[in-house]
Order: sequence, then C-alpha cells, then structure tokens
Amino acid sequence: MQRDLEVFNLIEKERERQESGIELIASENFVSPQVMEAAGTVLTNKYAEGLPGKRYYGGCEVVDTIEDIARERAKELFGAAWVNVQPHSGAQANAAVFLACLKPGDAVLGFDLSHGGHLSHGSPVNISGKYFNANFYGVEKETGLIDMDKVEAKAKEVQPKLIICGASAYSRDWDYKRFREIADSVDALLLADISHPSGLIARGLLADPMPHCHIVTTTTHKTLRGPRGGMILMGEDFENPWGLKTPKGVVRMMSSILDSGVFPGTQGGPLEHIIAAKAIAFGEALSDEYMDYVLQVKKNASVMAEAFVKRGYNLISGGTDNHLMLIDLGSKGITGKDAENGLVKAEITVNKNMVPFDERSPFVTSGIRVGTAAITSRGMKETEMDRVVELIDTVLMNLDNEDKITEVKAEVNNWMKEFPLYTQLASLV
Ligand code: PLP
Repeated sequence: MQRDLEVFNLIEKERERQESGIELIASENFVSPQVMEAAGTVLTNKYAEGLPGKRYYGGCEVVDTIEDIARERAKELFGAAWVNVQPHSGAQANAAVFLACLKPGDAVLGFDLSHGGHLSHGSPVNISGKYFNANFYGVEKETGLIDMDKVEAKAKEVQPKLIICGASAYSRDWDYKRFREIADSVDALLLADISHPSGLIARGLLADPMPHCHIVTTTTHKTLRGPRGGMILMGEDFENPWGLKTPKGVVRMMSSILDSGVFPGTQGGPLEHIIAAKAIAFGEALSDEYMDYVLQVKKNASVMAEAFVKRGYNLISGGTDNHLMLIDLGSKGITGKDAENGLVKAEITVNKNMVPFDERSPFVTSGIRVGTAAITSRGMKETEMDRVVELIDTVLMNLDNEDKITEVKAEVNNWMKEFPLYTQLASLV
C-alpha cells in the first residue's frame, strides 16, 4: 500500500500551523512526545471490552496491565478511591454518568451554557437535555459570579436528581462544599465536571471536589495535558446515596453502576492506545516538572488578565483564578466572531464565546475565551504575556486593516520560533 500523502501532507500542514501560531484556545494543549507516541501504537489494534481482569476478549493481559497503571496513577493524582479511564471524551464521561444515575425525564440542574456551562450538562441539543429535564443556574450580571443562595433556591424549586458543577468558560473557583450542602438538602447526587481546571486541581492549586462530590468527571486533554479523552472518578469520603450499608460497599456498588454506564451503556471497546497515553500523561502530571508547569499556567493567566484589564478590556468577573478568562468585547464594539476571524489571520487562535446575558447568537457572540495551558507548554512565562495581549489588541483595534494584521502575523511567526513546540516538550519528560 502506498503512503497516503493526501492525508499525511495535511497532518504536516496542521503541525506547521500549531508550530507557527499562538495557541490560546483554553481547552487545548500540547501533549509530550511520549504521550503522542503511545497514542500511535499497536494498542490501537486491540479489542478489550470490559475491565482489566474481566474482559469479553482474549489476549488482554498486556492491556490489562496498562489500564491498571492508568487507573492507579489517576487515583493517586486526584486522591480518588475509584476511577474508570475508558470514556472516549468528556461528553462521553458525562453521558455515562447521566445514564447510570438517572431515568429519562429526571430533573437535573447545571450551569447555564450561555454563562459558560457545557453542552453535556443539559443543553437541548445534547442527549443530557433531550432525555432529561434540564434546569440551570447562572452568574450575576453585576459580578459575573455564581450566587450560591440562588443555586440553592433553584435546587429547592426544581428538585433535581443530579446537580452539576463545573464549566467550560468560568474563570473562578467552585464552592464544592456549599454545592454538596445544597445537593444533600434536596437528596440530589452531586457531579463535578472538572474538565478544564483538572490539572490545577490535581496539584492543589484550586479547591478539591473529591471530598464533596459524589462523582467527578474530567477530560484528559486540557490542563491535564494528556491525550483526547475522559474519565470518571469517585472519592472515598462520600455518603451513601443509594442507602447501601458500608462505605466500601458504596464504592463497589456505585462504581459498578458507573462502569456499566460507560460499557455497555454508552460505549463499546475502550481505546487502549489512548488509555496507554493517559497512563503516561498521569505519570507526567505527578512529576515536579508538571507542578512547575501548572503553577506557571496559573501565573500566566493572572498576568494576562491584568494586561487585558490595563488595556480597557472587560473580563467577566474581573479576572481569573484558573487558566482561562472570558472577555466581553461589547464595550469595544467588536463581536466574538469578528475577533476570532481577525486573530486567526494573524495566527493567534482563540474561540468566540457567549458572555453571560449575551444578546448575540452562539454563531456571533460578544466575547472570546482565552487560556494559557498551551502557550505555557511551549515555555512562555509571565514576561511574555503582555506582548501576547499587545498583539491581540493590535489585531482587534485594526480588524479592517489587512496590512497591520499581516504585520502581526509575521511577528507571531517569528516570535514562535523562540518556543519550538516539540523541543520544549521533549525537555519536560
Ligand atoms: N465538560 C466540559 C466542562 C468541557 O469544557 C468539555 C469540552 O470542552 C467537555 C465536557 C467535553 O469534552 P469532549 O470535547 O472531550 O467531549
């Protein structure tokens, strides 16, 4: 068979795009060479429906050991008692939890998508909103923050079976303890979807959901810097949601219900090549180098937020506690769509994003979301953040000036040569 140059040439083109531009999409990151290597191995050939030691296929001895390593490392990283590392993505992890814990039509309470929540937390276009009765809490217009008393009132009103905390575009930390008190007051299960800040949570830089939430889901590819994928975790210290007798029994029972939500509930065979890559990424996330990395991600975001504010940009909630910020461009008279398109021309990648109480559609939006996980993996430090914001500002203030945008693009491309993608990452492993 001939090498498929049609596809490989495009992969090379994408590699060049990633190498030459500034990547600010808050949900993206650059994996290490060994994580990428594991994702492209013979493990992709193996079927392994079931769990380690309990498979529906022969020849699973090696992948059993790999999946066990992934599970043990994930538990160590998050202080969890149980984990399922098989979800193919974050949305799959959430779908598995919904299927395992709810009946069609049950009420759920999640963070409003237009305020920064995620599709898989009850959007009408997602299975979570089509099959379940979705209700939402949001942020306050004046502060951009969640008012927990209003969350409590909403929970009392809608009597959800499941409350979801966690978001795609919320730059502040979460009060998991208060969420748990609210969940207990209405007999709801509490799910934290920590997809975005999971790397910062793993290393203690943000509040820990594990002691408070019955179930935790996360993607593995954002701040955690693993391959694209998801997982579901549970802590040791949760109460007995189904009236079972012993804490150990609860872990076993809930875990088998959740396991079956993944397979056979919503997935077939697990992606063992991706699970191997997850195992490696979790090992990396336990290292001192990764601790330095997440500290830097957080520092970079905070300095970047200040640089935006200094230039008169309106950040929702006024700043950030984590790796991302949501910028309302309304006061600058620019739409999120125009900002994204202009910045892409200069090879600065961000995504347009609804802001709370946005009057524009999700295809236009009034904001952009910016994150520091990827540029920090390339080795950028606080000292570089002001220049990144300066370049963004130059583009946004010159959206009709093609020459100016071309000038910025040349500067971006030149500058990025100082942060070679895979040379930098190789030194991290
Ligand atoms: N949950 C949250 C909070 C997210 O931000 C995302 C993705 O951005 C997901 C779930 C879905 O993850 P995936 O795209 O892997 O399905």
